[in-house]
Amino acid sequence: MENKHLEQLSKIVGQENIKSDKAHMIAYSYDATRTRFEPDAVIFPKDKFDISAILKYCNEHNIIVVPRGAGSGFTGGALPASGGIVLSLERHMNKLLEIDMQNMLAVVQPGLINMDLQKAAEAVGLFYPPDPASEEYSTLGGNVSENAGGMRAAKYGITKDYVMALEAVLPNGEIIRAGKKTIKDVAGYNIAGILIASEGTLAVITEITLKLIPKPKHKKTYMGIFPDVTTAMNAVFKSLASGASPVAMEFLDALVIKALRDKLKVDLPEFAGGVLVGDVDGNLEDEITYQLDVLEKSFKENGATDFIVASNDEEAKKLWYARRNASPAVTIYGTKKLNEDISVPRSKLPEALEAIYAIGDKYGFKVPCFGHAGDGNIHVNVMVKDKNNEQEMEDGHKAIEEIFQLVVDMGGTLSGEHGIGTSKAPFMHIAFNEAEMELFRNIKKAFDPNNILNPFKMAL
Ligand SMILES: Cc1cc2nc3c(=O)[nH]c(=O)nc-3n(C[C@H](O)[C@H](O)[C@H](O)COP(=O)(O)OP(=O)(O)OC[C@H]3O[C@@H](n4cnc5c(N)ncnc54)[C@H](O)[C@@H]3O)c2cc1C
Repeated sequence: MENKHLEQLSKIVGQENIKSDKAHMIAYSYDATRTRFEPDAVIFPKDKFDISAILKYCNEHNIIVVPRGAGSGFTGGALPASGGIVLSLERHMNKLLEIDMQNMLAVVQPGLINMDLQKAAEAVGLFYPPDPASEEYSTLGGNVSENAGGMRAAKYGITKDYVMALEAVLPNGEIIRAGKKTIKDVAGYNIAGILIASEGTLAVITEITLKLIPKPKHKKTYMGIFPDVTTAMNAVFKSLASGASPVAMEFLDALVIKALRDKLKVDLPEFAGGVLVGDVDGNLEDEITYQLDVLEKSFKENGATDFIVASNDEEAKKLWYARRNASPAVTIYGTKKLNEDISVPRSKLPEALEAIYAIGDKYGFKVPCFGHAGDGNIHVNVMVKDKNNEQEMEDGHKAIEEIFQLVVDMGGTLSGEHGIGTSKAPFMHIAFNEAEMELFRNIKKAFDPNNILNPFKMAL
């Protein structure tokens, strides 16, 4: 980038808030995909007015701008794949602006860490449920832009279910508000709905109004042990349809269970071929007892051999240990994990998993699966034994493509929570027809006619 641009931009934000030295360029070239694209500069705006002036300047001079939260994304959304400026929201724009107890909502800046909001809400008896596993470092701006989900999604839903209003800066520098602090608002198009999961391609989010709910008083952890993953997956949708409302319902398949036993010596029975683990919560002890009864009855009717309930925090932690360590455990099956976060309607889980294993067998891969069974979201891991073997890597990618086609054919989606970014862009044609892609491109053009904001992501 020409020096004259850096000089103009530093007049907007101050010299100390614009960096173009090598160390910063390397630090801001990554996200959790571990793919690298170096930007030309990183800017740390102080407020929406800085962002407005930066975007106005960049729009006039055709300079690419890529918004960034914590850089924990799994699909390359925050990477400057075509160069330009990284606009980093986490340094200055990270404040909790307000908790409104009477209307049960919070107003935050986009760089606030998810866990910081959870803690602040809980300190006053309120609750912000979306809890991505990256909750200790991912930002709420990143969560909204990816529509992040977490373990508690089975009962409480995902980020979009809590967004009431957004303030954002358009690529031409105009500042807009979308949504209100009201529960109901049907005036005009749902622009906040369009910005959610837009992966920083339409506008830079500068303020977020989030719904909070009362914090449930009691919680208990359960685990169901099944002989195989098919019975476990049948129990998922059947127990939910029979009135169970667990906070979380996570699953582990036979390969994951074996990996946990062999690598981490986790105390799961040798005969276990499928596990469901989660929490139930409520304000009354009776609600918890009722929920556990419904789950136990339904799990056992669907083939569970054991139903365990933790009697204290220590035991709960032990039950959760298996799920929390599924990802590191499966590395016993290969040197490269090609992992995707596909999602299917819950009733299709048994069929989807069988078909995924068959694709793995066809190419000679072990495909351990685990994830958020309660919302049909499977973390599929195609394990490549030798990542330096080009043929194996190519076959691994072919297997992934077949898995995408399979889930779309079943009415599912390429991504339940991680988004598209650069890594899933080549597969968008599987999920969307030309008319749908054209509509996406027209929405992009309406917000960003000069294509300066995070361009070429999501196959746009
Ligand atoms: C170990 C680990 C576990 C994870 N677990 C989960 C999980 O359980 N559930 C889940 O959903 N995800 C999970 N993720 C993925 C990731 O944490 C989420 O996608 C998260 O929402 C990204 O937040 P971030 O602040 O890191 O955003 P970034 O990675 O910095 O950015 C993500 C996208 O948002 C855009 N963006 C960021 N801020 C703004 C803004 N203010 N305005 C406009 N666009 C913006 C960026 O351009 C980019 O496209 C996990 C990641 C890791 C590394």
